[in-house]
Amino acid sequence: MSLKNIPFHRPSIGQEEIDEVTETLRSGWLTSGPKTALFEREFAAYAGAPNALAVNSCTAGLHLSLAALGIGEGDEVITTPLTFCATATTILHAGATCVLADVGGDGNIDPEAIEDAVTPRTKAIVPVHFGGRPCDMPAIWRIAEKHRLYVVEDAAHAVGSAIGASPIGAAGTGGYRSDAVCFSFYATKNLTTGEGGMITTHDDDLYARMRRLCLHGIGKDAWNRYSDKGHWYYEVADLGFKYNLSDIQSAIGIHQLRKQEEFIRRRMEIARQYNGALSGRPEFETPEEFSAGRHCWHLYPLRLNPDALSIGRDSFITELKEAGIQCSVHFIPIPLHPAYQGHPKVRVHSDSRSLAMYPRLISLPLYPAMTDEDVDTVIDRVVCLAERYSLRASPAGTATPV
Ligand SMILES: *Cc1c(COP(=O)(O)O)cnc(C)c1O
Repeated sequence: MSLKNIPFHRPSIGQEEIDEVTETLRSGWLTSGPKTALFEREFAAYAGAPNALAVNSCTAGLHLSLAALGIGEGDEVITTPLTFCATATTILHAGATCVLADVGGDGNIDPEAIEDAVTPRTKAIVPVHFGGRPCDMPAIWRIAEKHRLYVVEDAAHAVGSAIGASPIGAAGTGGYRSDAVCFSFYATKNLTTGEGGMITTHDDDLYARMRRLCLHGIGKDAWNRYSDKGHWYYEVADLGFKYNLSDIQSAIGIHQLRKQEEFIRRRMEIARQYNGALSGRPEFETPEEFSAGRHCWHLYPLRLNPDALSIGRDSFITELKEAGIQCSVHFIPIPLHPAYQGHPKVRVHSDSRSLAMYPRLISLPLYPAMTDEDVDTVIDRVVCLAERYSLRASPAGTATPV
């Protein structure tokens, strides 16, 4: 019997994206222009923020946000150990010390750990919405207010997630909000432009600063003051970056954004099917449904129960791959990467829960392009493997081989 292969991810790119890119290519305007401006306007409305700045990655967005907030040498920024390297590296590239405060049981940074990690040098908190599950932002905003800290959300996974009825990017109840929220449009993310990102902010001054720094620090004021439209003269007001998003990428983003609600509905459906099939089993701990708002289910991080299985996580992934199911792991905790070990500007405040969770984590395939049959195939093979290696099952040899 030939096995159908289920890749870890396949993007959902339709004719609309292809037509818009073609039109952009024919238009003669390739870099940031009218498509990017439209994408920014529509994204701002979707995220419930007054301003959105398109950037060429979430990594660029995080770096730009921290730099524009003036965070640098001598400052401390608190984030989670259970994240992608970009979260920690951008803090270090900004010149600050990266302080790691541990996660809670849901994989998101624990507000108590944040509070405990605050020092007089702390300047900002960078929470990550792990897998699309919203962090406890009300608690984080309270800590930020108490200690006068900036909040820059790493919302790489969280396009379309919400706390209550407030989308990630919008102000929460009581008017609390983050200074900047950074989204990713990387190839595997919920909304993709191949590479890309967006920063939303409620702070008009910060927005103006980020917009200037995003494109070489070229002052728009100088442009207006000294030049006619299209004139050659410009002034570099600040040392900036080159982080802008092109119209070719925004052409894809415009349509990906318009499809997000449909994508998320499908993602929620798949997550529910996984939970329904796997949550009763002793071999697994499944991610909980999120009741305090909306979870966009960027990832489905299943946890193995080592007490109930005679197979480790790495072998489980290898065997699933041999069975045609490609999985991934989110994340290898920051302190386990050589680049951060012994780094003079990395301070591990707490990481034991992240380190304990890591060897149990497997992200199953979850994307709108999966058919019901694909989802059933994943479930069948994951269950089959669990039965085969279960320490709680019938005597060895009686379970169905994979
Ligand atoms: C993907 C990701 C990023 C980086 O996004 P890019 O757009 O690739 O720069 C940052 N943080 C987290 C948690 C991510 O998963």
